[in-house]
Amino acid sequence: MSLVDCSMLELAGRLERKEASSVEATRACLSRIDAVDGRVRAFLKVDAAGALAAAEASDRRRAAGKPAGPLDGVPVGLKDLFITEGLETTAGSKILEGFVPPYDGTPVRLLKEAGLPILGKLNLDEFAMGSSTESSGFHPTHNPWDLARSPGGSSGGSAAAVAAREAFGALGTDTGGSIRQPAAFTNLVGVKPTYGRVSRYGVIAFASSLDQVGPLTRTVADAAALLQVLAVHDAKDSTSAVQPASDYRAGLEGGVAGMTLGLPREYFADGMDSEVEAAVRAAARAYEKLGAKVVEVSLPHTRYALATYYLIAPAEASANLARYDGVRYGLRAEGVKGLGDLYVRTRTQGFGAEVKRRILLGTYALSAGYYDAYYLKAQKVRTLIRRDFEAAFKEVDVMVSPTSPVPAFRLGEKTGDPLSMYLMDVFTLPCNLAGLPGLSLPCGFTRAGLPIGLQLLGRPFDEARLFQVARAFEREHDFSSRKPGL
Ligand code: GLN
Repeated sequence: MSLVDCSMLELAGRLERKEASSVEATRACLSRIDAVDGRVRAFLKVDAAGALAAAEASDRRRAAGKPAGPLDGVPVGLKDLFITEGLETTAGSKILEGFVPPYDGTPVRLLKEAGLPILGKLNLDEFAMGSSTESSGFHPTHNPWDLARSPGGSSGGSAAAVAAREAFGALGTDTGGSIRQPAAFTNLVGVKPTYGRVSRYGVIAFASSLDQVGPLTRTVADAAALLQVLAVHDAKDSTSAVQPASDYRAGLEGGVAGMTLGLPREYFADGMDSEVEAAVRAAARAYEKLGAKVVEVSLPHTRYALATYYLIAPAEASANLARYDGVRYGLRAEGVKGLGDLYVRTRTQGFGAEVKRRILLGTYALSAGYYDAYYLKAQKVRTLIRRDFEAAFKEVDVMVSPTSPVPAFRLGEKTGDPLSMYLMDVFTLPCNLAGLPGLSLPCGFTRAGLPIGLQLLGRPFDEARLFQVARAFEREHDFSSRKPGL
């Protein structure tokens, strides 16, 4: 097996046994990027020098018998929403083009402390608003399984890079599905941890009550190992959970015997692709064979989730994006006639259509006279959605559903109709509204060879169980070992 095909933990094993060096692994990724990224376009910026310097330092630590952790020396990529010291960070937006942050955010600092070389910054929908990577201010990313299709979004660059073997793993963010949906479209494992599990300090904010950081990897164990690095309390994020993370790999092989898994009735709705539905139902039967009890559950407020999310997320975004005014960061419009004109022209030039749409929607929903009718109402419905889950989790340990109603769609197929794009998130956003952990894992392929994702949802801070349930399926199937024929 060539080096780039190794999982993160397989590579870590080779590094440990001195069968490979981090510099070799990093160079292998860099040559893979040279070979395929002209077609995939996952990267916005490659930091070859920074990654190789980190790899050399890692090799020195390993030679001295003092690795910084189990993943020391394993090169990864970052969605370009993570603030990186000295390395341009754009959020996929023209408004931040040329912005070089003066510090590392907490997730990046933790990766560096754990010894992982950072290969560069990965494409995304502008400010993480989208489900296809097509609203990037720079260029779309292509799905390595079919270059005419989207890798999903908004962490589409992260997913495409890992699927295409340009990086061993990557970080993404998930506000309404942006880690899980791209993972489903590219045959990866993607995890949206419990709200508060990973610090968001130094992660450019989209919708602060929904945003979470998480891993995209090729195996369940990799996702567990990478999340372990990130799941620590951080005083710099007031929403960061104080409780220590459990050991995500300890119970990985424990199986599902004796567990109760729930199939939410509302997640098997009309309009779902029949091949997706068949794969998910087959997965449920596989879990039964493995000793789990599978029952149907109901989450009655699911049908309000999309509307609720598309009020709350734009409302919070409109406030978070007020800071991009041409004064402090990135783009500044030229030849302006005063401060107001500077704001208007900078924001008009710098933001793309989807971001402007969200700012308009969100500002409206928060404005005097409409706040109670829209934002406040949405917050109340959000509570009902959370209570649905609380009730269901009294009966079941984990919920099983499709991640996305359809497999990867064609680039350009949905860009003309924002609502059809928003509908891609129906199964992923309730998890964010309720603050729960969610995971997507490979569960099959369509006849046309497109990956299908299975979503697992768990109780708050029960990530370890999601990994265990995911691993029980992965062990019995070989979907994860397939790779795109780029
Ligand atoms: N697709 C959803 C949106 O456009 C979710 C994006 C995300 O999770 N960042 O808002």
